[in-house]
Amino acid sequence: MKRTLWLLILLLALTVTGCRDTSTTSRELFAMDTVMNLTVYQPRAESLLNQAEQEIRRLEALLSVTDPGSEIAAVNRRSATTVTVSQETADLLRLCLGFSEETHGLFDITVYPAVKAWGFTQDTHTVPSEEALAQLVTQIGYEKMAVTDSTVTLPQGMAVDMGGIAKGYAADRIAALWKEAGCTGGILSLGGNVLTVGEKPDGSLFQIAIQDPADAGGMLATLSLPGNTAVVTSGDYQRYFEQDGKRYHHIIDPRTAAPAENSLTSVTVITSCAARGDALATALFVMGLEEGLNYVNQTAGVEAVFVTKQSRVYYTTGLAEGLTPESQQYTFTQKN
Ligand code: AMP
Ligand code: MG
Repeated sequence: MKRTLWLLILLLALTVTGCRDTSTTSRELFAMDTVMNLTVYQPRAESLLNQAEQEIRRLEALLSVTDPGSEIAAVNRRSATTVTVSQETADLLRLCLGFSEETHGLFDITVYPAVKAWGFTQDTHTVPSEEALAQLVTQIGYEKMAVTDSTVTLPQGMAVDMGGIAKGYAADRIAALWKEAGCTGGILSLGGNVLTVGEKPDGSLFQIAIQDPADAGGMLATLSLPGNTAVVTSGDYQRYFEQDGKRYHHIIDPRTAAPAENSLTSVTVITSCAARGDALATALFVMGLEEGLNYVNQTAGVEAVFVTKQSRVYYTTGLAEGLTPESQQYTFTQKN
């Protein structure tokens, strides 16, 4: 499904740049459990792509909850309440604590016990009992975590999960590395996290497709956006399992330890920092439509597109110019 999203973006990029264009260099890779695509608007830019791929692999090895060699896995299997971590992991966990505070715990970096209990990291899915869920709720709570420059303190029974921001963070890191290396423009698509970097050679806006949540091959809308803009989507179609006719997806409401249940099927956040956009997309999905719209309208520098299961699309004022509907299956409404 994520591959399809990328193909849509690639298609758009090709439409804009011309099919036999040799002035771009692209690469597709699989990492962080998703398909990723990297494009630089320069010929023979393999070294930039190598640098990006190395950074993705480095972050995956650092942050994966399932790789026993990662620092996050080491934090999660700590035997003492306080463990030592690298400065980068400490900085990143602090960033995540900030996002958890900002979203009043709807993005919660300590959600891992629930993610694990539902089997989303092992792909052996189970629906926990009511008692198990009640117990899991007590094991989630970012307020109980403390981070210094080199240590993490977390009560036993609790664990962290970077899955809700790792791809966004990776996109920000690559953009910074590319700029340092003199890259003038490119586009990153890391499984639902798109980041436009710098400028396109002709100075035109970037065209980014939002996937139709109900049709893996279809486009919901396109966004015309400037460079250095993150477009991050969280959706109930991205990772889920079905049992007894019910869909259980991977975005957990920390208040119930169960998949968030409301009218939404996807949320796309548009903002400058991809890591923050990633955390916000996850949090807004949990928040739901009404509260989510209010939240975005009161937050400077953030726009969003909310899609409901009833095929309604609501988008915030800042997208009035930039959003073009692409599917007639949906009704589109701008919301102030
Ligand atoms: P995303 O695709 O960015 O919405 O992230 C979903 C992933 O983040 C899940 O697969 C979990 O690993 C993790 N996650 C799920 N629910 C939450 C939450 N409420 N807060 C933080 N991380 C979450
Ligand atoms: Mg996210």
